[in-house]
Order: sequence, then structure tokens, then C-alpha cells
Amino acid sequence: MERSITSTVRSSPRLEHELLDYDGIQKLEDELGSSFYVLDVNKLKENYRKIDEAFRSRYKNLIIGYSYKTNYLPHLCKELSRLGAYAEVVSRLEYDLALKIGEDPTRIIFNGPLKNIDDIYFALSNKSILNIDSLYEIDFVKSFAARNPEIEVPIGLRVNFDISQNGVSELQEGYKYSRFGICVDNGNLEYALSELREQENIRIIGLHGHFSTKDRSIESYKIITQNLCKLAKENILDSLEYIDIGGGIYGELPKPYDLFVPTFDDYAETICGIMNKEFKDVDKKPFLILEPGVAMVANVFLFIAKVIESKKIRNDYFVLVDGSVHNVKPTLHKNNLPMRIIRRKHDCSRGKKTFNIVGYTCMEKDYLASEIKDRLPMEDDYIIFENVGAYTIVFNPPFIKERPGIVAMDNRKVVVARKKETIRQFFNEEIYVF
Ligand SMILES: *Cc1c(COP(=O)(O)O)cnc(C)c1O
Repeated sequence: MERSITSTVRSSPRLEHELLDYDGIQKLEDELGSSFYVLDVNKLKENYRKIDEAFRSRYKNLIIGYSYKTNYLPHLCKELSRLGAYAEVVSRLEYDLALKIGEDPTRIIFNGPLKNIDDIYFALSNKSILNIDSLYEIDFVKSFAARNPEIEVPIGLRVNFDISQNGVSELQEGYKYSRFGICVDNGNLEYALSELREQENIRIIGLHGHFSTKDRSIESYKIITQNLCKLAKENILDSLEYIDIGGGIYGELPKPYDLFVPTFDDYAETICGIMNKEFKDVDKKPFLILEPGVAMVANVFLFIAKVIESKKIRNDYFVLVDGSVHNVKPTLHKNNLPMRIIRRKHDCSRGKKTFNIVGYTCMEKDYLASEIKDRLPMEDDYIIFENVGAYTIVFNPPFIKERPGIVAMDNRKVVVARKKETIRQFFNEEIYVF
């Protein structure tokens, strides 16, 4: 997803945090080294509350499942669990993490294309919400149900239908088809339903439809919600307990993004409107499940990196920091993130320059930001990159250097949520053979 961003540095910080003035950052550096992430716990709570309010005020039976893969920092997952979020996981590793932070297994939603028979038995015996993604999983579910005839086995199906508009693909990268879920159009859904119904104690209680769309538009959600409701009413109305529309909504973007995006209220108005209309005459209203990832966490992380040197190469300036593009932009997109410079000396006499911010790896393309116009940062200044909460710490190869630490800030309280990695953890002797 491309976003247009202006390349200026703001002087007035949004996160008014006195702990993040020069001295505050220096103190954190003593503990964590010269680059680290900051989790803004207040902002996280605010995001959760805003999403919850927008939807719950319009449709009462709501479940918010936080998409673990977007950022599975245990501290963050625990905080969201406390606020009331379910855990939405797409692997056994994430499932086990949810258990490890103390999540109630009935509040885990297990999605994803890859689950083996053990995973499915485990999730079903734990009474987690399980959405099967492909036909191969049906045999596992049926054999579990056959072995446990005394219990009801509830199950959801991720379905795949066309969401293109006027023949134009809505999917990210312009893919013609989504590769996930059970295809409705070729009869696979019908086949899956009849296979599962052969086993008397299996109950098909929900449909799931997560699509990664290009522009996260309201129109796509109209199509997704409408289709899920229609399919559920046609096929599983008697046993229906939930409609899961997946994630993919936009969160609140920081100020410099000059891009119009729908608000949580806009999304809720459309999605809940359809739910209310479709289930108007149904006594037992199904739950609406949302699975936000980016919208919940993108704007709750900062990355702080110290300036090591500013150098001139022919006519251009390069500011080397103790960080890498992988720490802030794992998808390596070319847009500049919103950022701030925290200067050691307030010397306003120097004029503005155009400079690039580059990282510690040995790759030419390691640019954390390009063509910034401001006073040139100097040695021992810090650069704060904002909006780095999604996919950074999880989709980030520890490459050349250990992973940086993470602190969580809650009003005045600062706790270490992840220590800086050392060579002992990087080359863990339990797995590496020396
Ligand atoms: C990735 C994913 C999400 C979260 O998507 P966002 O775009 O981060 O909101 C939700 N559900 C499923 C099944 C996913 O794979």
C-alpha cells in the first residue's frame, strides 16, 4: 500500500512525553543501547477504545480479535488481552504465545493456511475458535469429532469469493484471486459443508472472510460483509454464531500523511449497518468479529536511533544512525515516515540542508529516510521515527546486528518490554552447533 507523505520534519512532537527529551532518551540509552523502540501504551489503549466504541455502539455483539502477526510483543499482547481483545493467531507458535501470556483458550481465534492434525486437535479440545482455511483440514476436524462423539465440535470456515469491482481487482499487488479460504464459486464451499455434516456432532458456526485490499476502502467492506451475511443465511443460519470480517481497516494516520482514509466510524457505519439489516429478523444475533492488526498498533511504536556521524559525499549529506531501514520499514517502501530530531545542542545558526538518513548494514539501499530538508543532525543527536508498530519487530531479520530493545511507556512509568539482544541469544547454543 503506497502512501503519500511530505518530507518535512515536524518540530512539535505529537507524543508529548517529557521522558523523550534529550536527557530522557540518554537515560534510556544507558539501559538499552543507542537504538531502541518505545511502545506508547496510552496510545494503544486509545486505539482499542476507539475501535471498540465505533463498532459496539452500532452492533452490540462484538468481538475484537487482535491480529498477533502484526506485532506479537508479549507485553503488547497482554495489554490488549487485559483491555478485552481476543487473540487472533495464524500459527501454532502464535497460539502457544497466547497461552503463555495467560490468554483463556476460548478467547483464541485460530486462523491461517497451515495447521497440522495436532494443532487442530489441540485447538478443538481447548474450545478455541477455529476457522479452517483449506479442504485438507476437514479430515482432521472429522476425525476429532469421530473420536469425541459426546461433545459438539464447533467450527468456522474461511471463505473465498470475488471482491473485484467492475472487473478491477481490489487485492493488494493487484492479484486476480486471493489464495486463501474455501472457494465459493467452484462449489468447494458446498463440498466442505456436506463433508463436515457427515459427522453429526460437527456444528458449522461461523464464516470468515479476511481480504488484504489495496486501499482498505469502505466499498470493499460492503462487499465482504454483504457476501458473508448472504452465505451464512443461505447455508448455516440455524447454527450461526459469528460473522468474521477479518482485519485490514486503516488506523489513524499521523499528521504529515496527506492521505484521506476512512475513520473507524465510517467503517463501523457500513459494516454494522449491513449486519443489523441482514439479521433484523433473527432472534439470536450472531457476533461480529473484527481482526485489526495495523489499525491497532501501527501508530503506537517509535524507533529511536542515535546519530553516529553526518558526512558529505561530493554534494550530498548522509546521516549515519545506529539503526537500519529494516527496523522502521520492513517492506522497504520509499516513503519517509514521520520523524523528529532530538538535538543535543540547540544551535539554530546553521541553515537547512537536504540529507539522507542511512543505516548500519552494508547494503547500499539501507536508507531510513531520503531527502529530508532540515538543519543537519549532528553526532549524538537522536532521530525518532514514528508509526513503526506494524510488522517491524516481527518481520525483521536480525541482520548483521542484534535486535534492539523495547520499552513500554505508560504515563510516567517506563518498563523494559524486551531487552537488547546479545550474542548469547542471537547464536542460541540450544539450536546452533558450534
Ligand atoms: C493479517 C491478518 C489480519 C490483520 O490484518 P491488518 O491489515 O493488519 O488489519 C487479520 N486477520 C487475518 C486472518 C490476517 O491474516
